[in-house]
Order: sequence, then structure tokens, then C-alpha cells
Amino acid sequence: MELNSALEQLGLLQKKLYAYQTASSSLYLDSVTVAPKDTSEGRGVALGILAGESQKLMTAPETGELLEFLADQKENLSFVEQRQVEELKRSYDRLSGIPADEYMDYAMLTNEASDVWHRAKETSDFSLFAPVLEKLVAYNRKFAGYYDSSKKPYDALLDEYERGADMAFLDTFFETVRERLVPLIHAIGEKPQIDDSFLHLHYPAEVQRKFSDYLMEVMELDRGHCTIGETEHPFTLEFNNKDVRITTNYKEDNVVDSMYSVIHEGGHAKYELGIRDDLQYTCLTGGVSMGVHESQSRFYENIIGRSLPFVKAIFPKMQEFFPEQLKHVTAEQMYRAVNKVQPSLIRTEADELTYSLHVMVRYEIEKQLIDGSLEVKDIPEVWNRLYKEYLGVDVPDDRRGCLQDSHWSGGSFGYFPSYALGSAYGAQMLCNMEKDFPVWEEVRAGKLTGVSAWLKEKVHQYGSLLTPGEIVKNACGDFDPTVYTDYLTEKYTKLYDL
Ligand code: ZN
Repeated sequence: MELNSALEQLGLLQKKLYAYQTASSSLYLDSVTVAPKDTSEGRGVALGILAGESQKLMTAPETGELLEFLADQKENLSFVEQRQVEELKRSYDRLSGIPADEYMDYAMLTNEASDVWHRAKETSDFSLFAPVLEKLVAYNRKFAGYYDSSKKPYDALLDEYERGADMAFLDTFFETVRERLVPLIHAIGEKPQIDDSFLHLHYPAEVQRKFSDYLMEVMELDRGHCTIGETEHPFTLEFNNKDVRITTNYKEDNVVDSMYSVIHEGGHAKYELGIRDDLQYTCLTGGVSMGVHESQSRFYENIIGRSLPFVKAIFPKMQEFFPEQLKHVTAEQMYRAVNKVQPSLIRTEADELTYSLHVMVRYEIEKQLIDGSLEVKDIPEVWNRLYKEYLGVDVPDDRRGCLQDSHWSGGSFGYFPSYALGSAYGAQMLCNMEKDFPVWEEVRAGKLTGVSAWLKEKVHQYGSLLTPGEIVKNACGDFDPTVYTDYLTEKYTKLYDL
């Protein structure tokens, strides 16, 4: 094999994978936006074929030979090419490591699990979901061994979502979170509640749509490259760095629900749009990990979006959109209302302060499930006990308890911690950003140009060219969870006059 023709094949292989991915994503986007409701069957056939072809291409013997050949030529490759080969080889080894029949069985199981979970959640009946969850846990324990048999099973799974993160690292992180935030939350519980009733007046969806357009402008999201749609659950979907879609969902009795969804998804979109051109249509495009992706969305949503300077900057415009509803409200009142701490049952509705504790409950349960020290049937009991201990809330039923998230039914174990890590990374990014330029002066003037440029330089541009660890180091320095807990302690001590 000649090096040049091998590199050509490498490029073509990645473009084909990109094409399959683009086709699948288009079908998905269609299914959750405009497709008529009884049309999933035909799309299912097409999606099955696309997934099969992509898998076949990735695990073909020729692909293995090509990657082997290029790996041996490492010194003749550019850094970008080396990284492509490394990442593709990793995927190749992983995919080929799982016996084909188990892979198929597992795909069928997750398909079934999703249906069962929906029904169990609707009827709030954990015992319906438990048998299939047991199977999912068993498969994941087994797959962990295929991924990396030198690691403990849960460590191998964590590595799939946030490379480099393991239990030793996360135990320290969550210990800091627990020690510093649980007492803070309990202290806030003793203080008078913030009045946020004006957020729940009637806010017509058609005006909220215009408000979203304004927020996209503030975030400098180019509408030629990023559209906003409406779906039941907001998400970001990227095709490449010139084509990203975000969605939101309007609740007419809650004006900030969609507002912060738009800013959150907008943060994901900024990341994808900021990736370098030379990484497009290769395996190195796309955000590097779940944790780093969430660090970007939560940075815009919480650190910027829920700051006093930002709320003050956009509030006059907000009043223009909703003159009646916000007639007697001040920017300070709005700031307090969007930062109201309310220990609650549902993770996705949690405020900035209590959010990580929702994640910690899931982490502790997953860890024990995968190492075998917790049986599936005992999950509700442990879940409810931990919610009481950390958040002080009583879980009335499993629908609002351990059945609330879809992740386990999709076979994702080890995914949750990245949500909390992202918030912690963001706090450290802010520290470093503040050393580089007067962040708040710009934000106060309603400009996010400097913030976005900094994040693009330190994080976005690299896509997956560097590892998550390298990117975090680049933007945060050495990881230190106390920076995150200090940031929260300072913010909420002031807000609640503790
Ligand atoms: Zn997100």
C-alpha cells in the first residue's frame, strides 16, 4: 500500500461515515419536527440499513488493514492525520471487540427497553421496568470488559462518555460537592423564598418566539448557519460547522423555561459552529465529550445567562416584549427570580445550585449497580433515601423518582456524571477568562463577542483533535472542584443573604 493512496482512502472512509451520519440525523430531525405521527415504520427501515452499513464499513477487514498500515506510518503523518487514525482505530477495536450476535441482541433490547420504560413511567410502576433494566445492567457489565478489561467495569463505561474520568476522580469531585453544597442548600431552605410569581403569568408563545430570535442575536448565532425549531424536548443537532439546528419548547406559563433552553442549546451550537474547517467531514469534528459539551452550554446558560450583568443587559428588551407582564418588575427582581433555589424532584428542572446533587444520586446508584453491590429491585429505596438526604425532598412516586430519566433505558450507564463535570469545568473557565479580559464589562453592555472568542480559541476550534483532558487543561488548568463550589457558595451566599 502506498502512503498517499492510503491517506486518500482514509479521507474517503471518513466522508462515507459522515454521509451515513448525516442521513440518519436528517431522518431523526424530520421525525421529531415535521413528520406525520404515524410514519415511523418506514424511517425505521431506512435507519436500520444506514446503521448497519456504517457498522459494516467501520468493522470491514479492509478498514482494519488500512488503519493498521497508517498506524505503522505514524512518523510520516501530520498531527491531524495521526489523531484521525488513533480515533478510528479505537472505534474499530471497540466495535470489532463485541461479538456480532450480542451487539444485535443488545440493539433489540434497548429498543424494547425504551417502550417498557415509557409504559413504566406513565404508570409509575418500577416493577415493570426492573426485569429489562436487569438485562441492560448485565450487558453493560459485559461490554465494559470488551471495551477495556484492564479497568473496573464502571470505569470502562465512564471512559466512553468522558475519556479519562474514573471513579477515583469522580469520588473526589462528588465528595467536595456533597461536603460544600449540601449544608449550603439546607441553609437556604431556612431563608424566606424568592418571589418568582411574575415568571408564571401568561406569556404568549408567538411573542416568546420573537424573544428567542432576539436571544439568538445576543449570542451572535448566524441564522444562515443555525436555525431554531420547536420540539417537545429541546436539543442541538449538528451536521457540520456550517449547519447546526437547535430547538426549544414554549410554555406559556413560564417565560424563562424556553429562554434558558435557547441559551443552553445556543451554547452547544456555538461549540459546533466554532470547530475548525480542516476537521470537517472527519472523525475529529464534533464536540470532544459530553462533559466538555455541557461545560459550554451551561457556561452560557448559568454562568453568563444567570448573572446579574447579563440579566440587567437584556431586561429592558425583555420588558419591550412583555410590557404588561413585567410592568412592575425590576432587573434585580428578575435576577433573583431566575436564580431561585428550590430543591425539587426532577433533574431537568433543577436550579443551578441543586443540579449536581441530582447527578450525584445517579452516580452513586450506577456505581453500585455496575459493581454488583446494589440489586435493581432496590433502586427506588436507595433513590428516595438519597433524595431525602441531599435535597431534603420526599419522592412521592417512581415516575418523579427513579423512572424520570430515559438514559438507563437507552443503555447509557456512566453518562450522568458528565452533566455535573461540565458545570465544574465552566466555573474554572470563568476564572481564567477573567484573567484575560474584562468579561463582565462586555456582558454588562450586552455583548458576548469576547466570551465567545475566548471559548472558541480555548475549546471550540479543536473539535476532537485533542482529548477531553487536554482541552480541559487548556481552558481550566488543573481541575479543582473547589473552584466550582466556591463560585456557587459566593453567588448564593449573596443572593440569600446568608
Ligand atoms: Zn445540554
